[in-house]
Amino acid sequence: MGDFLLNGNPKSPVERKLASSPVQKAKPLPPCPFNEQELFYCSDGASAAEVFENSTVGYAYNDIILLPGHIYFSSDDVSLETRISRRIALKTPLVSSPMDTVTESAMAIHMALHGGLGVIHYNNTIREQKKEVDRVKRFENGFITDPKTLSPEHTIADARAIKARYGFMGIPITENGAMYSRLLGIVTNRDIEFIRDPNTKLGDVMTRDLVTAPEGIGLDEAYAIVKESKKGKLPIVNERHELVGLVARTDILKNRDFPNATKDRVGKKLLCGAAIGTRLEDRERLDALVEVGVDLIVLDSSQGDSVFQLEMLRYIKNKYSHLEVVCGNVVTTTQAYHLLKAGADGLRIGMGCGSICTTQEVMACGRPQATAVYQVSKFAREHGVPTIADGGVSSIGHIIKGLACGASCVMMGSMLAGTEEAPGEYFYKDGVRLKKYRGMGSAEAMQKGSAVRYFSEDDRIFVAQGVSGAVVDKGSLRRYLPYLINGIKHGFQDLGVPSLEELHNRLYNGRLRFQVRTLAGQLEGAVHSLYTYERSAV
Ligand code: GDP
Ligand code: 5GP
Repeated sequence: MGDFLLNGNPKSPVERKLASSPVQKAKPLPPCPFNEQELFYCSDGASAAEVFENSTVGYAYNDIILLPGHIYFSSDDVSLETRISRRIALKTPLVSSPMDTVTESAMAIHMALHGGLGVIHYNNTIREQKKEVDRVKRFENGFITDPKTLSPEHTIADARAIKARYGFMGIPITENGAMYSRLLGIVTNRDIEFIRDPNTKLGDVMTRDLVTAPEGIGLDEAYAIVKESKKGKLPIVNERHELVGLVARTDILKNRDFPNATKDRVGKKLLCGAAIGTRLEDRERLDALVEVGVDLIVLDSSQGDSVFQLEMLRYIKNKYSHLEVVCGNVVTTTQAYHLLKAGADGLRIGMGCGSICTTQEVMACGRPQATAVYQVSKFAREHGVPTIADGGVSSIGHIIKGLACGASCVMMGSMLAGTEEAPGEYFYKDGVRLKKYRGMGSAEAMQKGSAVRYFSEDDRIFVAQGVSGAVVDKGSLRRYLPYLINGIKHGFQDLGVPSLEELHNRLYNGRLRFQVRTLAGQLEGAVHSLYTYERSAV
């Protein structure tokens, strides 16, 4: 085995487009006062191999603890750069789960802005899922090469419909209402906000006094004109004054505010993942998602080692060779072997460890997550394929443990479901502000259509593998994600590890030291002996 796996041709156009969002030069680390021998003076504890291999016992995150290292750098110096799949790099190893109470466009946008990635769920119609991906892809741009345009004959109602669907309102007006037609003006919010009659023609209200830039201009030059002119939009025109593109002022600000965003180098658009199943209908879903520029497909199944998944993977690779495909879920190296052999670009690990999950109870199948992540990640690494530790994360410590067991990134459901950007409304129970969170294998979600993930689509009686419940309000991702990222960096600092890459080096060379905790050890490591206490999330 081994020769069937390609490590991604670094010179391919896809590689150039996706591999690295703009790379900031890493700050050099301060010098370490100890030499190598002194830094790893004594091997207390056990290596990961000693803990996880040759054992009849499987460990959950709570069973293990990591031993601290020497701190010689600040937490700001820690680099969390990683990959989610062979060719997609992330600055932050965090991914939101494709669940209908977790990831739609708002979640995916914020995950990507903060350097992670969102995977849009598919418990919806093809049209709905396509729209969510389209929203993410349109959120931020360099040059907008396909701006929404209208003609002078269109009405204010048409402009408002675009605003309602996509959230923006800077609409270039061209002679025939399409691109590559003569640019006549632009309609913005300010042109129409006080006009009552929705049938008013745009030709009567549009702004005609335009600052434009010529085709062929560089993005930096275009941004300079936007700054100088103080305009919200800069239409790009060719020598016949036909519209060929658009630049938005807000994109300069987004660029400034989110320097670690996960985006492609060429179009500067945020990257977005989407989940699909493995049935014939999912091929149509796939085509629709590709049409709006999805970057990563997650084949979503609770047990990924199936002939259906292998067939779907081969189908995608044949039809859309540029598309990255994450397969799963898996918890054993044999499952991983089958999917890697068929060309998986990433593996999602976890079976029965999710907070809403009852698979291990109902199906008697699964594996404790720390062991599963270690075993599968070690195997996948030998073949250059990243892994995602999926589920079972309820604290920053669990994220660090998932990474320390070998995962390239961590996927979360319950941790993110209480944020403002998750789908659904808040409600109160016993005075506490909550949001609904449900398993995709819960009876409730399956009734809406997600049964495919749990192989019971033809069953007349659903066998649920999840529950539905609620999680507490976590506020906005704008605060919560920086809090998580900071927490992870502090954890790395305590471990004396300056980067995720180095964490994995030490995991496999035995210098990262673990200990298994007894039940008393776990209780001692949690809050105890207090009569009352409060814990705030952020
Ligand atoms: P507006 O003033 O209502 O147009 O909204 P903003 O300028 O605040 O936001 C526009 C955002 O939508 C920018 O980030 C654009 O890159 C993005 N966008 C994506 N596609 C389009 C499009 O077709 N037209 C416009 N105007 N913006 C787009
Ligand atoms: P959490 O982060 O809440 O612990 O777990 C989220 C993960 O649980 C998801 O990414 C998905 O892999 C898994 N999951 C989601 N819904 C269900 C379900 O109903 N049953 C099972 N077995 N797993 C689920």
